[in-house]
Amino acid sequence: MTIRQYLKRRSDRYATLAFALLLVAGVVMGYAPRILAVRIVFAVLVSVVLAAAFWSLFETPCPNCGKSMGSIGFWVSVGRKSAERCPQCDISVDVDVPNRETRK
Ligand SMILES: [Zn+2]
Repeated sequence: MTIRQYLKRRSDRYATLAFALLLVAGVVMGYAPRILAVRIVFAVLVSVVLAAAFWSLFETPCPNCGKSMGSIGFWVSVGRKSAERCPQCDISVDVDVPNRETRK
């Protein structure tokens, strides 16, 4: 598995989670009391979780050096095809993910 595939898989998992959360939120909203305050709190909670999921794409740790890959992690996750490199250790996203056992 290359680092690119690792990043894609990670973002797919977050997208699935965010989608499931929205579904649950939608169902719960259907049963929630029709009080504006409750709805506002709910909307804020959902936005916070979605923002966190989005933000996590920017905070993806590099599988080689363990530091945040920043916008590179985001662009690879959303499918940009160019040859990106980790801004910290300069490893290409198209090489295999380093074996975790041999990591320091
Ligand atoms: Zn790195």
